[in-house]
Amino acid sequence: MPSPSAADLVNRPSPSSFDLTADQQAVLDQADRFARAEMAPLQQRMDDEEWWPPQVMPALARMGYLGVTAPSELGGADGDFFTSGLIAQALGRANPAVSLSYIAHENLCLNNILRNADDSIRRRYVPRLCDGTAIGCLALTEPGAGSDALGAMATTARRDGDHYVLNGTKLYITNGPVADVILVYAKTDREAGAKGISAFVVEKGFPGFKVAQKLDKMGFRGSVTAELVFDDCRVPAANRVGAENKGVAVVMSGLDLERAIVAMINLGMAERAFDLALDYARTRRQFGKPIGEFQMVQAKLADMYVLVETIRTFCYRTMAAANELEVGGGGRGDIHKLTAACILYAAEGCTKVVTEAVQIFGGAGYMRETEINRLYRATKLLEIGAGTSEIRRLIIAGELMKG
Ligand SMILES: Cc1cc2nc3c(=O)[nH]c(=O)nc-3n(C[C@H](O)[C@H](O)[C@H](O)COP(=O)(O)OP(=O)(O)OC[C@H]3O[C@@H](n4cnc5c(N)ncnc54)[C@H](O)[C@@H]3O)c2cc1C
Repeated sequence: MPSPSAADLVNRPSPSSFDLTADQQAVLDQADRFARAEMAPLQQRMDDEEWWPPQVMPALARMGYLGVTAPSELGGADGDFFTSGLIAQALGRANPAVSLSYIAHENLCLNNILRNADDSIRRRYVPRLCDGTAIGCLALTEPGAGSDALGAMATTARRDGDHYVLNGTKLYITNGPVADVILVYAKTDREAGAKGISAFVVEKGFPGFKVAQKLDKMGFRGSVTAELVFDDCRVPAANRVGAENKGVAVVMSGLDLERAIVAMINLGMAERAFDLALDYARTRRQFGKPIGEFQMVQAKLADMYVLVETIRTFCYRTMAAANELEVGGGGRGDIHKLTAACILYAAEGCTKVVTEAVQIFGGAGYMRETEINRLYRATKLLEIGAGTSEIRRLIIAGELMKG
């Protein structure tokens, strides 16, 4: 076999590389240009009105950003998980709410279906999720089951002939108010705890499904969030994803990927907050000079720079490792620990960067309509969603103690 050329080596993604390949950089740059031109201008109305712009998914589809990991025969881009993370990073810079909704659609719903469902489900749902005519979401959390999502799950699915009948309530579901395709978890064996959970694809038109309410949030506004109710909701048995009572593997493997890719929103947000603060420090003048000439402001900028660089390095390393996660893998071991650590660091680091940026903006940063204020109201969510900081620490420590 001929040895690879230098160009091949430069372009080959590697879990050990410290930076993006030329191809990956090109994807990020293109997504960045698109997000600035088409997604950033939507921010203000989304924030003011909790408004989901209907043009977003078609625009993402036109760019080839939906179904990145799906095969071309299903309408996808034949790409990899890392690439979808770069798109999330670019969207996170220009419009974090779109980035969150993108991940709920692309990763939590589409990629999960792709990895875990049978061919018939994939053929029925993946093409519509790829061309943007259907919006996807994932419904795991319930009013009584958040951090203990599996153990405390109360939603049930009872087999009735060639259907299942679902009953229960799901809470805080991203994209829920506008979703056409809902990947939902329910207990098929109430006595078996986490080993009695199954996954189903529900369509919004199925009898017994309804959006109970759209929720009003402090940040990420416009990435719409819902309470969903399943009231004797009849779901064809053919829509069960994976084997009965084997949903826990779908959840756990999906959660590792979710944590890795959600950290990419943090990366984009931290980069943006840093850029805004640096620009302000150079241009805002007090005591006859730019505030960036005062050492206390410089110290903040230096610390923010360190955080942004370390978040980026950790995110890329984690995305590269998660890129290799085989179907059914995850939920335990190194990747479980790594993805929890990455999002823990990225989310808390992002909050520090954004908070310091607001401080550099002074009173202007406290004004609701400013971009930095919007980032400030948003950043807290990523220490809560996809498992809280406390749960992330429990995962890391649990894996460490296994020896
Ligand atoms: C805007 C938004 C979007 C979301 N999108 C989705 C979605 O698309 N799909 C979905 O299924 N879910 C979604 N979620 C739900 C999210 O994953 C949960 O909110 C999260 O897992 C925490 O659950 P909880 O809110 O019930 O908090 P709780 O579990 O009630 O936790 C409350 C506090 O107790 C702490 N705590 C709990 N258990 C322990 C423990 N053992 N040790 C130490 N501390 C503990 C927590 O860390 C937290 O600080 C979303 C949430 C929000 C806010």
